[in-house]
Amino acid sequence: MAEQKYPEWIWHNGTLKPWRDATVHVMSHGLQYGSSVFEGIRSYQTPAGAAIFRLAAHMKRLYNSARIYDMQIPYAIEETSAACHEVLKRNGLEQAYLRPCAYRGLGGFGLSADTPVDVAIAGWPMGPYLGPEALKHGITACVSSWQRCAPNTIPAGAKAGGNYLSGQLIAREARQRGFGEGIALASTGLLSEGAGENLFLVMDGVLHTAPVSAALLNGITRDSIITLARDHGVQVVERDLPREYLYLADEVFMCGTAAEVTPIRAVDGKQVGAGDAGPLTRQIQDWYFGLFDGHTEDKWGWLERL
Ligand code: PMP
Repeated sequence: MAEQKYPEWIWHNGTLKPWRDATVHVMSHGLQYGSSVFEGIRSYQTPAGAAIFRLAAHMKRLYNSARIYDMQIPYAIEETSAACHEVLKRNGLEQAYLRPCAYRGLGGFGLSADTPVDVAIAGWPMGPYLGPEALKHGITACVSSWQRCAPNTIPAGAKAGGNYLSGQLIAREARQRGFGEGIALASTGLLSEGAGENLFLVMDGVLHTAPVSAALLNGITRDSIITLARDHGVQVVERDLPREYLYLADEVFMCGTAAEVTPIRAVDGKQVGAGDAGPLTRQIQDWYFGLFDGHTEDKWGWLERL
């Protein structure tokens, strides 16, 4: 494996410390049982300087994820939000990915143990997650043999570490089979989302996406796309989507903080549309990336300058 180069500073339990010093005990609850919650946030270089995209929405979701699991994050949201800025500034990062996480630390081995809750915020440089080619001409995807968790089992609405066991199964299976990404069905058999991305289908000029009840994470990019599309007069419908609509849609794309807006050019070996990024997908990419190069007006105050 290529040697990783890490940034210098990381925020851990209230202070900035050298990256190598931010360690956890091997018997930490979060490591043993998956009891952690986290966020993935991007910062971009904009004409007005570096800015964090929708920090407030991401931090709200982090605290909401913790709430679902009765984890008391021992810092105010204002403190951890300020720490996100600090991590970027101290490491000289502009185009980057931020990873705040809170986890049950060392302090009990019982499943319901009230351990201390530790918090860390890391950041590192990041360009396109699936590569620039993926953004331009799309990726291939397959429907996974793994389904998402049923409602009332593990809540998909919390961005918790343990949920990503499901994501790993889906992503690894897809890559082992030669696809760029995996798409999961919910326990209902209806479409849910990608391993780490939400999903949109374009049919007759209308955007369709599965509702949050379809075992998916209520993505902030999904919300941004719905908002941008409606603002430009595009109709968006949140609805149950049977699997076969993947094969009938004019366009399919995935979205997420890391994946941004990634076209899907084939599903299960069946070509989507013309087998390239479709016209509405390109238009949405243009509106989305326009927020960062300044040609889409940020009417919603989504960009927070460093
Ligand atoms: N679904 C899952 C399972 C994810 O991990 C992510 C990435 N956080 C998303 C959807 C997209 O969410 P967001 O747009 O908030 O990054």
